Amino acid sequence: VSDDTRFPYGYARPPGGGPMGMGTMLTFAEMMTKSTVFNLHPEVQRRFHALIEAASKAGVPLGVGTGWRVQPNPPPKGFAQPGNSWHESCPVAPTSQSALAIDTVPEPSWNWMEQNCAAYGLRTFRNVNNEPWHIQPAEIPAGRNFATTLPPIQTWELPGDEDMPLTDDDIKKIANQTADAVWAKAFDTTGKEAQVEPQPARYLLQRTFLICQQYLGSYGGKPMDTYRPSWLKQILDAVKK
Ligand SMILES: [Zn+2]
Repeated sequence: VSDDTRFPYGYARPPGGGPMGMGTMLTFAEMMTKSTVFNLHPEVQRRFHALIEAASKAGVPLGVGTGWRVQPNPPPKGFAQPGNSWHESCPVAPTSQSALAIDTVPEPSWNWMEQNCAAYGLRTFRNVNNEPWHIQPAEIPAGRNFATTLPPIQTWELPGDEDMPLTDDDIKKIANQTADAVWAKAFDTTGKEAQVEPQPARYLLQRTFLICQQYLGSYGGKPMDTYRPSWLKQILDAVKK
């Protein structure tokens, strides 16, 4: 899917008739200029973007009617009390990128969404309030219960996502694997295991960093969280040669 892909936005119907929500089609970049999308939590934006791209690839138009909103007061029938909806910022004021819920459009796409959203770390409210249009992160409580602090939301590994940022544990694991590979190569090179002195861990770490520099090129000055699994796989493959 290219960046030119357009997704349903808002609740307008097409001029010639059709489902509510199909009247305005925007790219994701255009959606991000709208406060109802911009004020969603960045991880919710990331999961939602992946979900609607997958839908588009499957020929299913899926987009956003309302993400972030100011909860109407008094609430109409079916609306949560102000301060008690994940559609609002958290805390409610000031407005910030912290809304967690999205009401999606159009209706004909909700069955596809129901069957596919779990892989994107999202759940619907089909069986909560009979709201098949409403999605929010799968790991948070269904109800806000007037929370004023955000629940923990982690980076979800999306389907086919090779480039998700690594956690500290991931980096440690890969550094250890790299050190092991360097160690194994040292033995292979001599072919005489008995003659190889046990190498201090510091030496292995230096070797690991040298290899990182050599194969990433831009290692110096890069924050650790910019490492990508695909790059580190290249390092490991190179070390094993
Ligand atoms: Zn909702």
